Amino acid sequence: MTDHQLPDPVVRISSAQEIARDVVVVPNQHAELVPNIGVIGGKHAVLVVDTGLGPENAESVLAFARDHAKGRKLYLTTTHFHPEHAFGAQVFAGEATFLVNQAQAEDLADKGAGYLEMFRGLGPTIARRLEGVRVPTPDVVYEESHDLDLGGRVVRLRAVGRAHSRGDQVITVPDAEVLFTGDLVETGRFAIFPWFPPHDTDVSGLRWIEVLARLVAAAPRIVVPGHGDVGGTQKVEAVLDYLRELRDETWVRRDSAMGRETTIEEVRAVLIERHPEWTGQEWIDAGVACLCAEHGG
Ligand SMILES: [Zn+2]
Repeated sequence: MTDHQLPDPVVRISSAQEIARDVVVVPNQHAELVPNIGVIGGKHAVLVVDTGLGPENAESVLAFARDHAKGRKLYLTTTHFHPEHAFGAQVFAGEATFLVNQAQAEDLADKGAGYLEMFRGLGPTIARRLEGVRVPTPDVVYEESHDLDLGGRVVRLRAVGRAHSRGDQVITVPDAEVLFTGDLVETGRFAIFPWFPPHDTDVSGLRWIEVLARLVAAAPRIVVPGHGDVGGTQKVEAVLDYLRELRDETWVRRDSAMGRETTIEEVRAVLIERHPEWTGQEWIDAGVACLCAEHGG
């Protein structure tokens, strides 16, 4: 995907901040391949959301969570199966119960090994982070939704894929009106479309738009995106606006029978001009290609 050497994707625990009562986020500070990580506490248990890329990052997340939990039981969940979100889960074995939705468990089983290889190909820094990684197997799998009682606080886990991936899940803390979106929302960048035909074509721009429209309607007070700044409902709205723009710009060209390659070139130019400050320009092409495939279908 990229030729240049990616910076080391380190989870920086020291930047952790409490965004609501007993809801802590370790922000990614816009570092590539570092997710925002959540630690949500109740009276008798603590839920960790996402692990960071590889065992070493996950070790520091686990140490932080253990320290924060002060003897409370630990749970782990991951927003989706992508390596920087889930490929540290093995470190939690025996210390936390790893709980995910069925579709995500299937993503891990079906595509985990392929993504591990693909990410190792991103360069020596990433390959080193992935040394010793085993694709994780969840301890508990739920179907569509699961209410996890942490003691005096029930956290809601909900499968919403397919959108960014087949197994996307969102995590809501209703009493604090906090929503963890995983990569359904990313700020300050073009949305990541993991459109890798023929290996992985699960991403759906259309379903993604539907899912975000529902999340906006729920109007969460605090939104923790997969990557980028924590904010309010407007963080979700911004991505929804972008995905609609991407769809409309793509489809208007396909409606007039413009070829796929020309469509990609034109849409890329239009969107970069409208969002000059956003990173991740390389993902526009994949987004257009995905929406071309969904055109008229
Ligand atoms: Zn992702």
